[in-house]
Amino acid sequence: MTTDAPPEGPAIEVAGLHKSFGDLEVLKGIDLTVRRGEVVCVIGPSGSGKSTLLRCVNLLEQPTAGKVTVSGTEVTDPDVDIDRMRRRIGMVFQAFNLFPHLTVLGNLTISQRRVLGRGKAEAERLARAHLAGVGLGDKESAYPAQLSGGQQQRAAIARALSMGPELMLFDEPTSALDPELVGDVLAVMRKLADEGMTMLVVTHEMSFAREVADRVIFMDDGQIVEEGPAEQVVTDPQHQRTRLFLARVL
Ligand code: ADP
Ligand code: MG
Repeated sequence: MTTDAPPEGPAIEVAGLHKSFGDLEVLKGIDLTVRRGEVVCVIGPSGSGKSTLLRCVNLLEQPTAGKVTVSGTEVTDPDVDIDRMRRRIGMVFQAFNLFPHLTVLGNLTISQRRVLGRGKAEAERLARAHLAGVGLGDKESAYPAQLSGGQQQRAAIARALSMGPELMLFDEPTSALDPELVGDVLAVMRKLADEGMTMLVVTHEMSFAREVADRVIFMDDGQIVEEGPAEQVVTDPQHQRTRLFLARVL
């Protein structure tokens, strides 16, 4: 079991973050603070660096320059125990990434047992509680292929929550879903936000951003072009690039 007590200070602090892939500079100096309990949505065109930003927060990508601090621990410090750090960060991707050969319950217990060393009964108890929380209390014995995309994504969220993360990163969690399945996943995310989870969410769902996010960040070409209260950025953007983007997606 982890004994990391969440320290004071922001949940995520990104300062002067640069990331290049070879000659391609994808992040060109990002500064971003996410407070505890805050929900921040990141919007912007395809290729603007949104996924790379998220992946730098939990070091799925190694930043080229700059500093990323999560719950007071500098994750870009070469001496940091990154596995220990990642346990504190839940991540949900566009593709649900469930293990196809495991049942839903198996998907929710395997990392609790292997990574956190929880016993079977405890892992299953927590898994069932989180499955009930996402409306999948009756699906623990199903295999991923037997679930709809929306159910799979809710199972993926429950799996991340079973690890007891301090914050959650979502990268376009509803983009791969049929339109009629999007609402159930957003409802789960909205509930999580209401419960006080810190969330950094890349999404194209503008109504979600507007209603649930505390702040919206508009990224273009590797930079934060505009940020502000969700309602303001979505309905009254100050920058031309933001206006053009919103005109395309709204
Ligand atoms: P977004 O999520 O906003 O669509 P990404 O962060 O996925 O943008 O990608 C930003 C840019 O970085 C794109 O041009 C993409 O092709 C490039 N990129 C992303 N990951 C890699 C990688 N592993 N290697 C090379 N280029 C990459
Ligand atoms: Mg992306």
